[in-house]
Amino acid sequence: MEYASQSKESLEALHAELAERYEAFRSEQLSLDLTRGKPAKEQLDLSNGLDGILGGFYLLQDGTDVRNYGGILGIPEARSLGGDVLGLPASEVLVGGNSSLTLMYMYLDFMNNHAAENWADEAEASGGKCKFLCPVPGYDRHFTICERFDIEMINIPMTETGPDMDKVETLVAEDPLIKGIWCVPKYSNPTGHTYSAETVARLAALPLSAGKHFRVMWDNAYTVHHLSDDQDELENVMELARKAGTADSIIQLASTSKITFAGAGISFLGASEANIKAFEQFLSAQVIGFDKVNQLRHVRFFSDGDALANHMKQHAAIIGPKFELVLSKLDAALGDAGIAEWTRPRGGYFISLDTMPGLASEVVKLASDAGVKLTPAGATFPYGVDPEDRNIRIAPTFPSMDQLDKAMDVFVTCIGLASVRNLLESL
Ligand code: PLP
Repeated sequence: MEYASQSKESLEALHAELAERYEAFRSEQLSLDLTRGKPAKEQLDLSNGLDGILGGFYLLQDGTDVRNYGGILGIPEARSLGGDVLGLPASEVLVGGNSSLTLMYMYLDFMNNHAAENWADEAEASGGKCKFLCPVPGYDRHFTICERFDIEMINIPMTETGPDMDKVETLVAEDPLIKGIWCVPKYSNPTGHTYSAETVARLAALPLSAGKHFRVMWDNAYTVHHLSDDQDELENVMELARKAGTADSIIQLASTSKITFAGAGISFLGASEANIKAFEQFLSAQVIGFDKVNQLRHVRFFSDGDALANHMKQHAAIIGPKFELVLSKLDAALGDAGIAEWTRPRGGYFISLDTMPGLASEVVKLASDAGVKLTPAGATFPYGVDPEDRNIRIAPTFPSMDQLDKAMDVFVTCIGLASVRNLLESL
């Protein structure tokens, strides 16, 4: 029964029961963590075959010795692997080091500060400020990059089909200093939603009504990260952009961080050949070449046609049950309470939960006092400010099933407690 429709007496009884359960958890002096969106050890173990896979053989088909300097764009075989992941020809892929975040940062640095016609100069000349559209809740590190470059961020509500495109199109058409939009189009961080075909088509056409040098930052970090055979489909944004004449405005990103080793994978930046060339030239002042030995290791590891898909199925077998556990705990404790809403992703790394307005920080604090660490409330919004103080990101992959089981019991108790208190105060 919905909490909000209960009498004062039954809410008080519920409060007493939840408070007792909460105190019992507190006395256990737990130390659990639901913040870490990283692979568990068993997932990392799936890629141990990378170790030694080269067997002393470092030459590419064209005779290149990968141990030596050179080749900012990456080895051809790895560019082709990146092309398979992003749905692009190899000529439109640059292969970087162990982090796509680094490529995003470098790319925005290039566009904002170093390109011949850069965003910062344009803003200064017009006396305004560069801005980026940020679908929320979103990935905190995208927001940190914008903050670093003093790019103002504008919240765009995320829906089940992607960003609110009516709002996006209106804003972009009104302000030429809006220079881009962050997108995590598949199994989005943290909602897990995948952009619909209509949303992708509208995003591909968006640069037509935007100011100069607008970029759609298409961070496809979770493109192959399905939780089961029941998978989401995403349209190929670059194909649509080519038809719309906007290919130079699309920058795609991905990495193997959550495929092989999170700290020792390879990353991909996909873009038109003209954009790749300009970015390569920019990078040449700071990079002689990324780690080609690791690129070759990855290519060998995924050399069979189905190797990548099969590998991701093994990940799903490990983390799928963790997502199911989190959802079953939420359903059982809060399913009919009407005090929280949460997503049911078919892939990716997170579940997004909204509390009643104004309670996310309180829930995070209660959980922390009971020994369960949650991602700070607000972290999924630009400047760390969730205007409604509702969103909490749950990261199920890293803890063991036992730890997750316990952490979720504490978490749902905290949501219940904060909500009942709030309802009682408002009576
Ligand atoms: N993009 C998104 C949406 C992410 O969630 C993450 C990691 O959590 C990253 C990028 C980081 O990727 P990388 O390890 O390649 O820097």
